[in-house]
Amino acid sequence: MYSVLVTSTLLPIAIVGNGGAAAEAVLALRANGWTGDIHLFTDNAHAPYNPMLGTYVVSGKLPLEKAFPFGSGSAFYDANRVTAHLEEPVTRIDTEARELTTARGTYRYERCLVASGARPAVPPVAGLREALAHPGAERRVFALQTVDDALALRRAIDGLRAGVRGAAAGGALRAAVLGASFAGVKIAEVLHGLGFQVTLIEREASVLPLAAHPEAARILEAHLKGEGFRLRLGAALAGVGLPEDFSVPGAAIRLDFGALPGAADPGDPGTACEDGAEREETDLLVVCAGNRPALDFLAPGQVDVGRGILVDDQMRSSAPGLYAAGDVAQGKNLLSGRHEIIGLWSSARYQGRAAGRSIAGQPSGYPGGIPHNITHVGRMLFASMGCVDDYDTVTTTDDGGSRQVRLWRDGRLVGLNILDDCLSAGVMKQAFSRMATGATGDLEATWTSFRS
Ligand SMILES: Cc1cc2nc3c(=O)[nH]c(=O)nc-3n(C[C@H](O)[C@H](O)[C@H](O)COP(=O)(O)OP(=O)(O)OC[C@H]3O[C@@H](n4cnc5c(N)ncnc54)[C@H](O)[C@@H]3O)c2cc1C
Repeated sequence: MYSVLVTSTLLPIAIVGNGGAAAEAVLALRANGWTGDIHLFTDNAHAPYNPMLGTYVVSGKLPLEKAFPFGSGSAFYDANRVTAHLEEPVTRIDTEARELTTARGTYRYERCLVASGARPAVPPVAGLREALAHPGAERRVFALQTVDDALALRRAIDGLRAGVRGAAAGGALRAAVLGASFAGVKIAEVLHGLGFQVTLIEREASVLPLAAHPEAARILEAHLKGEGFRLRLGAALAGVGLPEDFSVPGAAIRLDFGALPGAADPGDPGTACEDGAEREETDLLVVCAGNRPALDFLAPGQVDVGRGILVDDQMRSSAPGLYAAGDVAQGKNLLSGRHEIIGLWSSARYQGRAAGRSIAGQPSGYPGGIPHNITHVGRMLFASMGCVDDYDTVTTTDDGGSRQVRLWRDGRLVGLNILDDCLSAGVMKQAFSRMATGATGDLEATWTSFRS
């Protein structure tokens, strides 16, 4: 147990976290003339990791070292002369005293970048937190945020497939995914590809509730069911129970479902609800029910915080000397004009770069971003842009190669879903950005010129 108070150590630059935002900040600092010390604090022993590659690590399609885009081992820290405080998580930041605390002591800083990313949200389901923390080889319930999460999940899958840890006798292995989020549908697809019978459990009435308009969601759901996925939509998982001993034949995880006020009606043919069984069993459970900014170390009341730390276009917070970037930062959403967390790899990198330039005294600012994503849902490609919850008009197009659901507010396009043909998604995103920044008012012309 360390209890050293290191107040004599003044860190010119401290960075909390080692994801994409932190790594880009380091690169920008060095590229913009900062030659002094950079101290970077992590809660893990790894190089900067890209969490969106976790599903590829689990599937085995990506060699582990490729999940570290800035180099594996200590290469990144060495090349950029970073003093890496590995496995030394920050437990408190007092922005008034300009101090950060870890288990090894308290450091004073001149400027501090908070880039600690997000942690998986754990819904209030009885037994879930304990199941996620279950130690050792018998663990069967996982989140999917860190590289260690991905590796632990892969080990469990390998164990189950090798049949060494009491998989259900006969029949296919079963996996349940809690949360039909982007991460949820991606890991569901991986598990399906590895031979599991997969059930997607979603509290809302449709898949990808934050990204897919219900019209697009219905198409995706029909496709998923056709591919053999089981969907439990509008379903409230109430409890998770682990068996005493997984080595007993037939031992499985118990999932208890309860009533959810306002949940989808299983009898409604417009939804994709399943049988509504109150209890079922599974061999593996992956939790993808969203995430929360990792900010529990901030002393209360010192910094303007909404869901994340509110920042300007140079990633400055309201507290002097404190910056934030990535999944902890609420920068500008160019479409809505509001300050929101845009939890994307590209956004984290842009924000990290802007913070690094700003701290190095070469500010150029990052005006903001637009929520967008693209993924396979089963074998169908799906892209989403903008928002799907604040519109007044819906139009749909289907030209054979590409189906689109377009969402409008006051005559302005604010959200878009594209199914099947996502080659065009990049063009549409550019057009969206240009509209949001006032560079063009005519998205249709951009789209038409691309298609012709
Ligand atoms: C499964 C999954 C799939 C995704 N898919 C996509 C996708 O398809 N497209 C896309 O654009 N984005 C995707 N994302 C989101 C994207 O990965 C994130 O938006 C991005 O990585 C955020 O980068 P960051 O640097 O802010 O945070 P992170 O990458 O989370 O890095 C933060 C780091 O700080 C560390 N840390 C946390 N607390 C502390 C502390 N107190 N002290 C020290 N260190 C700490 C964390 O362990 C972590 O290593 C996905 C994310 C996940 C989990």
